Amino acid sequence: MTDSQPGPTIPESDIAEVAAVLRRSARPVVLTGAGVSKESGIPTFRDALDGLWAQYDPEQLATPRAFRRNPKLVWDWYQHRREMLAAARPNPAHRAIAEVETVLPQLVVITQNIDGLHVAAGSSDVIALHGDIRRNKCFDNCQGDPTLVDVAALAWDRDAGPPRCPHCGAWVRPDVVWFEEMLPAAALERAYDLSHSTDVMLVVGTSGVVQPAASLPFAAKQHGATIIEINPEMTSITLIADWHLSGPAGAILPLIVAALRAVPDHPPEGPPDA
Ligand code: NAD
Ligand code: ZN
Repeated sequence: MTDSQPGPTIPESDIAEVAAVLRRSARPVVLTGAGVSKESGIPTFRDALDGLWAQYDPEQLATPRAFRRNPKLVWDWYQHRREMLAAARPNPAHRAIAEVETVLPQLVVITQNIDGLHVAAGSSDVIALHGDIRRNKCFDNCQGDPTLVDVAALAWDRDAGPPRCPHCGAWVRPDVVWFEEMLPAAALERAYDLSHSTDVMLVVGTSGVVQPAASLPFAAKQHGATIIEINPEMTSITLIADWHLSGPAGAILPLIVAALRAVPDHPPEGPPDA
């Protein structure tokens, strides 16, 4: 079985029912994780630690302490991941999520991914909880949080590690959330507000282990939302999911979009005495 074939176990009626639930939603939200980008060839965090990088733990590469200790090592690791990402394109899962907006223009995407592929696919309202790997910022955020720095405009010895902030001279670092760091406050606050007010949350390709993102489906459920999970594996979210559609997102989401488009705007009227 390839990554984009559907699991054999999803009946068409489940797809149609999930589409009908979505169609009735007033405030639909999608929460995504690394699994939605897997079919674009982007490895999960663990899988990315290949070759030369296999000897390191994420904690040695993705914390502020690690960066302070060895800025060049951490910078080189992110350059390696950026190179892996350069050729990546949105896959059918990203595109299907963007196409949901043709039926439900109010859809908001909350993602833990740092790859920018939801925006590339055309989703118009994306909350990037963990930042964006293509951007850089001043380590000290000297001009406010975040102080973005365009490194393409800087001249520095690229073999020597990261450049220095043109404002204050601190190291420049990727604009991503590392272990032990807070999430961007405005993004997190909006994600919680949406989770408290949504009526349907679609949870795609997240293992539900990285906090605080993992708590969002639980917050939504507590506030009465229907939870639809798409993941080939069971996760901690499966326990509270009203639907668990097992299989790759790139196979399942296009089926849901096709079914969503087939749902009539208004339920068909029956005969007057029905
Ligand atoms: P995770 O790696 O913990 O979990 C990935 C989940 O996706 C798993 O449950 C897996 O079963 C599922 N999955 C695998 N293939 C799938 C497919 N084809 N369709 C649907 N689901 C599939 O990911 P996470 O929950 O996002 O947490 C990991 C952390 O690593 C996050 O903080 C994230 O920011 C970061 N990360 C981001 C990227 C990226 O930007 N693409 C890549 C790696 C890691
Ligand atoms: Zn600075």
